[in-house]
Amino acid sequence: MKTITTDFNYLAAKTAEEALDLLYEHKDDDYRIIAGGQSLATAMKHRLIAPEYILDIKGVSDLDYIRFDEKEGLKIGALATHRAVEKSPIVREKYGVLCEMEENVASVETRNWGTLVGDLCNADPAVDPAPPLIVLDAKISVASKGEERKVPAEEFAVDFFETAVQPGEMATEIRIPPLPPNSGVHFMKYSQIHGDYALASAAVLITLDGSKEQCVNARIALGGVGTTPIRAKKAEEILKGKKITDEVLAEAAAVASEETSPISGIEASAEYKKDLAGTLVKRVGKEALERARRA
Ligand SMILES: Cc1cc2nc3c(=O)[nH]c(=O)nc-3n(C[C@H](O)[C@H](O)[C@H](O)COP(=O)(O)OP(=O)(O)OC[C@H]3O[C@@H](n4cnc5c(N)ncnc54)[C@H](O)[C@@H]3O)c2cc1C
Repeated sequence: MKTITTDFNYLAAKTAEEALDLLYEHKDDDYRIIAGGQSLATAMKHRLIAPEYILDIKGVSDLDYIRFDEKEGLKIGALATHRAVEKSPIVREKYGVLCEMEENVASVETRNWGTLVGDLCNADPAVDPAPPLIVLDAKISVASKGEERKVPAEEFAVDFFETAVQPGEMATEIRIPPLPPNSGVHFMKYSQIHGDYALASAAVLITLDGSKEQCVNARIALGGVGTTPIRAKKAEEILKGKKITDEVLAEAAAVASEETSPISGIEASAEYKKDLAGTLVKRVGKEALERARRA
């Protein structure tokens, strides 16, 4: 049996540059980054992990920001908390779906400490921010000393609790382009307890043509129904180029449900989650359509 010790070496960075230097120095060591500690400290407390080094980035103030400009869209730094996103007036005005999503993430206490980027990096398949970020076509900046790459939100989680971030790298920013005109976005999660992880969740973006009759673009993403959040591309194709009626939406929802591969757990069976995914797509799609008509 492996003995798990609770000793670790603590390192703290005050700037992004310092953090990247430390990551470079320790890239071959057994280390973990800690931001708000909401998931990491829990995993350590339960002795699920016992890293040799902890690299604390909570004090990296140059990555604690939320910025918007009409050309580039929204930028959320790695140290922006859930609560900061939820309460940001510019996020509410331009990407209200993110504030709606944040209102149901965990508790206020967890949202005050936990970062949105940390939630993505923890890579629970039911993580709330992933589906809305996927439909909003967000990209996550991943940096190492002297280098940076951008990972589409739908490729960020690569497996159960595993992301595209490699040793020596950290996620530094989420970038979301401006919403196309005549677009509506909605997100909904279903969980048994308020503020808990979702059994399943869905986000839908619908963009209509100038007459607001025909769907010119659609993006659908689901959480909790696979080893990572997923994009339901076949279902999107059902909506594109059509006037969206209840029947079209029901067809897309049935296809989206087929694109999932949930696993059974104590809280619900795989069949239930598959069904739930379809129901969510139907409801969320209907609201996204209404929002697109009002946009
Ligand atoms: C009781 C409870 C309920 C919760 N309910 C929900 C919920 O309903 N919905 C939901 O979406 N989430 C939920 N969460 C998860 C919560 O949102 C996350 O724990 C939190 O956002 C993680 O952010 P953090 O800054 O605390 O990250 P940490 O806990 O510090 O880190 C989490 C992981 O990400 C890595 N990491 C952090 N930042 C970076 C970075 N910049 N680059 C690379 N790796 C990084 C760490 O190494 C670690 O592996 C819940 C958590 C708790 C404790």
